[in-house]
Amino acid sequence: MKIVSLTFIALVYSVTVFPAGLSVLTSVYPVYIFTRNVVGETPGITLNLLLSPEKGGPHNYALTPGDLEKIAGADLLIINGGGLEGFLERIKKDIQSRLLIVDSSEGIKLIRADAGSGGHDFTNPHFFVSPQQAIIQVRNIARALRTADPPNAGKYQENAGQFIEKLERLTKEMKQRIQRFDNKKIITFHNAFAYFARDLGLVVVGVIENNPGQQPSAGELADLVRTIKRRQVKAVFSEPQFSAELAGVLVRETGIGLYRLDPMATGNDYQADAYLRVMKKNLRILVDALGE
Ligand SMILES: [Zn+2]
Repeated sequence: MKIVSLTFIALVYSVTVFPAGLSVLTSVYPVYIFTRNVVGETPGITLNLLLSPEKGGPHNYALTPGDLEKIAGADLLIINGGGLEGFLERIKKDIQSRLLIVDSSEGIKLIRADAGSGGHDFTNPHFFVSPQQAIIQVRNIARALRTADPPNAGKYQENAGQFIEKLERLTKEMKQRIQRFDNKKIITFHNAFAYFARDLGLVVVGVIENNPGQQPSAGELADLVRTIKRRQVKAVFSEPQFSAELAGVLVRETGIGLYRLDPMATGNDYQADAYLRVMKKNLRILVDALGE
């Protein structure tokens, strides 16, 4: 009896699973984590990440021969969109005929990037930093997977639903906890927190680094000091790339609190709940910074 049922299961399994096994490639770290949640334990799916963390963030990234190999082996390429994948522009036309490119930003109300700010042309692509926008991306990813792999459509739908529920709960908690602060004026390192701030009611009055990889000049730093004093900015959120020396000058000149938020653009934690954990930590830091 046992043998018969096992054979039966094996037969069903071999019929249901995507014939050759679906190979899904994600462009950047947050999109990988979102897709990881939608795929869950679905059998027969290979999920890969194009940009490895040791090569730095997506800004000014250049594709390597190894990356091109990964693209050649994929059935589906899920991108963040919004202009973040500048590194794909040159080959996009070429690869479009060989694999399906899914833009996870479809339906997101994009924020324009100021000329020269954050190194992005036209639009700000950091919507993945806001859980409220991440929900839209997860929905798009789930829809793409359901279409590419109909036998497992139910699984993708269920997994996405569970993850979205967690993101919704997180968004609600963040809004509730941040709402009660009077002064929500902050300065960030680069324009990575524009959507996060918009959705949570934070006011970004300045950005330290206008071009990725370029420290602010003495004049720009002096401007920041003036802005902090004049507009009574509550906190400055730095990123690991910001030089400790310049940060020290800012703190000395203004007495402002300096904190660090994780924009989630890169990471080496590939577990499904990595995004939720980072955002919960960001919330703790934010509450600390605004409450002091
Ligand atoms: Zn960025």
